Amino acid sequence: MDDIPMDDDERCRDLDLLLTRPGRLVGPGFEPCPELRAFLQSSDCRVLCVGAGGLGCEILKDLALSGVVNIDVIDMDTIDVSNLNRQFLFRMKDVGQPKATVAAERINSRVPGVRVTPHFGRIEDQPADWYRSFSIIILGLDSLEARRYMNSVVCGFLEYDEAGQPDLSTVKPMVDGGTEGFKGHARVILPGHTPCFECTLWLFPPQTKFPLCTLAETPRSPVHCIEYVHLILWGQARAGEEFDTDNEEHMKWVYERAAERARQYGIHGVTIQLTQGVVKNIIPAIASTNAIISAQCVLEALKTLTCFSTGLDNYMMYMGSTGLYTHTAKYEKDPACPICSAGVPVEVDPDSSLQQFIDQLRSDPALGKHLSAPSVSYGATNLFAHGVFEAETAPNLARRMADLVPDDGAVLTVNDKRLRGPMRVRMRYSSSMKA
Ligand SMILES: [Zn+2]
Repeated sequence: MDDIPMDDDERCRDLDLLLTRPGRLVGPGFEPCPELRAFLQSSDCRVLCVGAGGLGCEILKDLALSGVVNIDVIDMDTIDVSNLNRQFLFRMKDVGQPKATVAAERINSRVPGVRVTPHFGRIEDQPADWYRSFSIIILGLDSLEARRYMNSVVCGFLEYDEAGQPDLSTVKPMVDGGTEGFKGHARVILPGHTPCFECTLWLFPPQTKFPLCTLAETPRSPVHCIEYVHLILWGQARAGEEFDTDNEEHMKWVYERAAERARQYGIHGVTIQLTQGVVKNIIPAIASTNAIISAQCVLEALKTLTCFSTGLDNYMMYMGSTGLYTHTAKYEKDPACPICSAGVPVEVDPDSSLQQFIDQLRSDPALGKHLSAPSVSYGATNLFAHGVFEAETAPNLARRMADLVPDDGAVLTVNDKRLRGPMRVRMRYSSSMKA
């Protein structure tokens, strides 16, 4: 492939049209001017792309060709031969190399003037201040856990003022893209303003499985036939033997019986590839879906950075498997979100001890899952803290909550190693117990 030399003005021609003209759809406070492009290309504008895989390659290319100059990319993976069909920045000779490094080199050599800085490693290993230094963060991830981690990072920067309003200077914008086969989503997260991941965790349902009775009695698709053999017949015919997805004989056994079952029910389409895909739970990655979602993510990032257009509010779905359309939805913040709200309401018995209060938080159905060994502070005062202040604060554990925190409705800050940022708890003393 030949490099296409392109000068800056030519590359930014379309961007300039957006940045230098007024319009009816512009965002709040937008003033068309050439300085906006200068800003996008200045060292004040730094964009972090998390992930250099299917989405990441597309996001980096889109950012570079949209006029953004200072880009960082972080990814802990190395290139596998199976990535090459869609992760177009990589070549056969790159197999085994870090994705972030190769992606950065490829963009830097193809798009003059762009500086992509690679970081080969885990997102958890970067300090919070490193994340804070970016103007915006774009996620091109395929795991919910990594998204939740990044969410806790950006929400950890958020501060509320006395009136309970988010302090604008602490809002770190984040754009998230995700794809699953022919479906995808893009969403904009402005902590404190739009819902964060934890507010809308229900958007990521657990893997749906088919009802066993459908598999056993009324199979209607090749997948049903495969799952019947995999989940039911295997346990009956080869009881005690663990099914191993990497064992060729096991896979062939499931495939042959699934094909036979499909024949009995007049169902077509059971193949060895589909069998592998179903039992290994592989969702095919589709290059075009990645391209569409990445384009939307980068467009939203540009809108957030310059306000040339009103931003997505706040979630877009792309549906490519059942027709071809997109729709947007405005999801609501969870006012009791432990990660981004001004304070999760918790009712406390004023006579309970600090230890009992901590135990109450840990056993709370919504909060407990975020906590392993929480430290609690009230304003600038450590009520109880693990680590260096542990000896000093441990005597507080036996004291009454009402003595430690006389202010009913006070916001306590809870820190835990499972959380990247603080969890805010708005305490209400239970009035029935107060008497
Ligand atoms: Zn939230």
